[in-house]
Amino acid sequence: MSSKMNNILTDTLPFQAEETRLQHAGSEHRVGKGLVGAQELSVTFATDSIEEIPVYARLSNTSNHAEVCALIATLHHAADAAVFSSGMAAMTAFLFTFLKPGDHVLAQDNCYGGNQGLLLKILTRFGVDTTFAPISEWDSHVRENTRVCYFETISNPFCLPQDLFRAVQIAKANACLSICDNTFASPINCQPLEHGVDIVLESATKYLNGHSDLVCGALAGSSNLIKKINETAMYLGGFLSTSGCVTLMRGLRTLALRMQQHNENGIAFARKMRASSLVKEVNCGGLCASDDHRMKHFRGGFGGMVSVRFQPHVDVLQLLNHMTLVRNVPSLGGTETTACMPYYTTNRWTSESERQRLKIDTSLVRFSVGIENWADIVADVLETAARCARN
Ligand code: PLP
Repeated sequence: MSSKMNNILTDTLPFQAEETRLQHAGSEHRVGKGLVGAQELSVTFATDSIEEIPVYARLSNTSNHAEVCALIATLHHAADAAVFSSGMAAMTAFLFTFLKPGDHVLAQDNCYGGNQGLLLKILTRFGVDTTFAPISEWDSHVRENTRVCYFETISNPFCLPQDLFRAVQIAKANACLSICDNTFASPINCQPLEHGVDIVLESATKYLNGHSDLVCGALAGSSNLIKKINETAMYLGGFLSTSGCVTLMRGLRTLALRMQQHNENGIAFARKMRASSLVKEVNCGGLCASDDHRMKHFRGGFGGMVSVRFQPHVDVLQLLNHMTLVRNVPSLGGTETTACMPYYTTNRWTSESERQRLKIDTSLVRFSVGIENWADIVADVLETAARCARN
């Protein structure tokens, strides 16, 4: 099931750089000698002996699954990885594998609204309680029955780096499993497993696939944990189709190149936004002070996610509807720049009082800066914002 532990090609060759692994890892799982893997259309394959585990797409054990899982595992320097039909399916598989009624989850405050909803609206029905709190306050919320600590490397929607070191410290001190959502950073910029996180989650819909044409998710970690997750996932059914695996493989090949450009563009865009009189507040990892200890686990940069709070006289709804290049859509991590208002998208289903507490209002825009020439994007945003400013 999923990737094999030893990646023959990349483990025996001297090069270990991500750029190289991205082109070669996983290829030993291909059937035949294609330069790229062929999509397996059959939902099942005959095995040599009846005692072997059946090969069936829902068990995520076709060669297409093995190839993409091996590639994701190698990117995170993990023993194994698993892929799913969405980031939410990946999170669901994790939570349903390791939690039981009576357990408690400690979660980062102000995290992705989908995961917040899953914990608050669904897991509570199965007797699992969650406390949302800033990682700096986790110490005072940890309980005897806390089993899982969940946080993001860079938070959604505010785009702020989180204290990974502290989160891991608290999880380990209390014998909890830690799961870190690395979607905004990607494995090119941050590899949480190297810092002691147990499982890393990627909404592969975003940077990993990178072309806004596939919804998928991934988990990476030790072979023991991934094996347990796969054993639950086959009952939950949120598997990635073989065509999804092939599309994701294709997207992944250019991840390092794309992230380099997202990193450069994200910080350039954030600096220009910060310098504008139309803007009240800008958040992006690259704007943090260089002695901020949260910066240390980001190797390559911070990607293209930037949150901007405009001045009250800017009509933000008009701005979102009138930019020429930047599209107003909820997803992120594609090659093209997009923007959304978290109030109406990621946190649409968060209660009004909670949105107020989190300071998620209609002045806040979350940008996903793409790989275009950043000056064109800055001009599109600021010129449109100037036209949408009330005198
Ligand atoms: N995690 C983060 C940080 C996200 O932004 C999202 C989706 O926007 C998810 C997880 C869920 O991913 P998916 O939409 O692939 O289910």
